[in-house]
Amino acid sequence: MKSMRLVAEGQPLKGATVETPRLGSRSALVRVSAAGVCHTDIHLIAGAYDLGEGRKLSATGGGTLLPLTPGHEIAGSVEELGSEGGATGIKKGDQVVVYPWIGCGACRKCLAGKENLCEGRPAFLGFMKDGGYAEYVFVPDARYLVKSEGIDAAQSATLACSGLTAFSAIRKCGLRTDDLLLVVGAGGLGTAAIQIAKKTTGARIAVADIDDSRLELAAKLGADHTFNSAKMEAKDFVSGVKAQNGGRGADAVVDFVGKPATVSLGVRLLGHEGRLVLVGLMGGGLQLSLPVLPLLGAQILGSFTGSLAELAELVQLARRGVVAPVVTASYRLEEANEVLSKLEHGEIQGRAVLKP
Ligand SMILES: [Zn+2]
Ligand SMILES: [Zn+2]
Repeated sequence: MKSMRLVAEGQPLKGATVETPRLGSRSALVRVSAAGVCHTDIHLIAGAYDLGEGRKLSATGGGTLLPLTPGHEIAGSVEELGSEGGATGIKKGDQVVVYPWIGCGACRKCLAGKENLCEGRPAFLGFMKDGGYAEYVFVPDARYLVKSEGIDAAQSATLACSGLTAFSAIRKCGLRTDDLLLVVGAGGLGTAAIQIAKKTTGARIAVADIDDSRLELAAKLGADHTFNSAKMEAKDFVSGVKAQNGGRGADAVVDFVGKPATVSLGVRLLGHEGRLVLVGLMGGGLQLSLPVLPLLGAQILGSFTGSLAELAELVQLARRGVVAPVVTASYRLEEANEVLSKLEHGEIQGRAVLKP
């Protein structure tokens, strides 16, 4: 089968023909209809996450995981099922979204259904195991497939990472009716978060980005207030957001960028018992005014993707039309490097997908 593979850190992906995987008893082979291109793929290909102060976290196990097929937002149809795969209720030919955040299955987090936070050796598809930048993807257990009949394949693919990450992050905000939520970054995740917050909470939504066209899209999707933070002094931005909440700070901030500049602004914006949910992995370190957190009773918490149960819930919301992921462009598998470069340079609105 055809695939686009990462052969060496920092190098463009290479087209390759690899053997189509063989099935075990509970496993499934999915023919990929669409694979979302995610910002995390850029970090993976670069080889590391930036931890700040010159420290790096290797994204490829120091190269030991290479060669690797990236791609963790995968939708397709079930091509083959192992002899016991049918026990999960999945049938050959079903349209599915693949849950890629597969854990070791044995640690405390996996046993609690939080495989995305596996403490053992996770087997995330597109990171530790071959993912969806290919004609087929091997899924070790058919229970990781969520039926997605009725949703466009490109839209359903994006639910597995950008949709799920936004869904889980919004849930962690604990929003109540009339709370003010600030969404930082109106890219693929931000646009999903705006829709999810609008349709599943009664919160008012403010959105900050540095690109006017993205803010226009945010407003169309239901943002009540938009701020171009590149065109404002930081203090005006902070007072502008607070003014939307009667001068109090925001009740929740979800930061989909995760740079020192955005997170420090987010902390300045928090009101009493405010929560800053940090999702973005742009990286770097932070100087923090420590008394702010205890004096406000505020919290900073991280959120990494979501659980299999959350994905199943989100797919149901999408099937009912509550959430409609913004997919703006489809490309051929061979165009993966061009799409990654466009994404890196902020030239993609919403989400782009590859269609093998
Ligand atoms: Zn992703
Ligand atoms: Zn585990």
